[in-house]
Amino acid sequence: MSIQTINPNTNKLVKSFEEMTDEAVNNAVAQAEKAFSSWRKTSYTERSQLLNRVAQLMRGEKNLLAEMITLEMGKLISQAEGEIDLSANIIEYYANHGAAFLADKTLDPLLGRAFIRHSPIGVLLGVEPWNFPFYQVARFAAPNIMIGNTVLVKHASNVPQCAIAIERLFKEAGAPAGLYTNLLMSGERASELVADERIKGVSLTGSEAAGASIASEAGKYLKKSVLELGGSDAFIILEDADIDKAVEWAVVGRINNNGECCVAAKRFIAVESIADEFLSKFTDKMAKLKVGDPMDRTTELGPLCNEAAAVQLADQVNRSVTAGARVLLGGNRVDRPGAFMEPTILTDLHPGIPAYHEELFGPVASFYRVKDEQAAIDLANDSDFGLGGSVFTQDIERGKRVADQIDTGMVFINHPTWTQADLPFGGTKGSGYGRELSELGINEFVNKKLIRVSELSDPF
Ligand code: NAP
Repeated sequence: MSIQTINPNTNKLVKSFEEMTDEAVNNAVAQAEKAFSSWRKTSYTERSQLLNRVAQLMRGEKNLLAEMITLEMGKLISQAEGEIDLSANIIEYYANHGAAFLADKTLDPLLGRAFIRHSPIGVLLGVEPWNFPFYQVARFAAPNIMIGNTVLVKHASNVPQCAIAIERLFKEAGAPAGLYTNLLMSGERASELVADERIKGVSLTGSEAAGASIASEAGKYLKKSVLELGGSDAFIILEDADIDKAVEWAVVGRINNNGECCVAAKRFIAVESIADEFLSKFTDKMAKLKVGDPMDRTTELGPLCNEAAAVQLADQVNRSVTAGARVLLGGNRVDRPGAFMEPTILTDLHPGIPAYHEELFGPVASFYRVKDEQAAIDLANDSDFGLGGSVFTQDIERGKRVADQIDTGMVFINHPTWTQADLPFGGTKGSGYGRELSELGINEFVNKKLIRVSELSDPF
């Protein structure tokens, strides 16, 4: 397994990194366990101060860190800067609200007195993806460090410089050795590590294959796991939608992060009466996107994260066309160096065509025309995924009724699926289980311990 920075704008190798030896990983786990024994005894104030310092350092290095993101995985530089802000917001959110979320909860039992204490559970392993190299780590590490757990992070092999930078920020903020440790190693080794008895829980954000591997190990060794997996979000446009607004959000929803978001709008479902208008305006805007170098601030669509991802996406399009799909726009690799794919729109999709079932991780939109609202809901739910989704209508009560019938973890009305520190994030079905962010996200790897006090006068 190679751990390398390869610039996807050129596909040129920038730097290679050595994987950690088994001995180094073993030492890191031992250090994390040792750190847990003292970190669990620190006050919320001390934990909060550390996290706030990390966020401050992150903001101070925003330009450098954003350039690192863009170099390693191709995100547009302005979006990379936005990711640093969002990550710092998340860290501060848990620093500033964590103590309140974790305060003892008094119960009112029939007999005696009782309360719930939120205790940490120990060393956790986080397996993280490359598509938001700072944000994904922030939403795993910050709440867990606030709880009193210690964390080992196995980051994706194509963003080693980002992974190393995050560990450095924790060190510079004064984190004790073992509180936050970056593990430079392959995914397969991360799955094997779940068996280590010193590791008490595991969180993975990534593909279904990696999720299944981690979850089966976690199940085998009876460990708590959280899985944030892929998605194929429906973007429903009803006949009473503001079409121009829907078109603008449709483009943003599909190409944000160069189309490599788990919660990207991927399946565009328009009811018959407005389908032509929506499709023609959407196609027009997608066709005009400026594709190019993600460091150039005028670029609107950058490369995919690496050559393999571009080859895979082009193959999904080709297999779909062979099975009967029609390419309305794009459909090919861009004729230039780098991991680029044209903005693409596929139509004439039905069950059996790969694009109907598979997640398309890049600037490829699937378009569907349906009879009415119920058909749109049925199509939205005809997916193995259950992450997010959107419905566009000017009737908010109608939007809520539709949202209620969509089987996903998140539904946005008049907006593509999005994320912020204080909104829970996660899915159902093949998109995984558990939640990150908000108060829910701090409750995953915590022992909700009942403490009951009996009065001496209580009857036997
Ligand atoms: P991936 O291959 O699953 O990689 C994600 C992480 O898992 C990486 O650190 C990877 O390490 C590791 N990994 C790979 N195989 C593993 C295994 N057998 N056991 C344990 N860990 C393993 O995912 P990807 O294709 O790069 O990332 C995109 C996927 O992530 C998409 O499906 C996307 O929808 C999903 N995602 C979901 C969310 C969410 O919150 N639901 C957010 C972002 C992305 P290596 O890099 O070393 O292989």
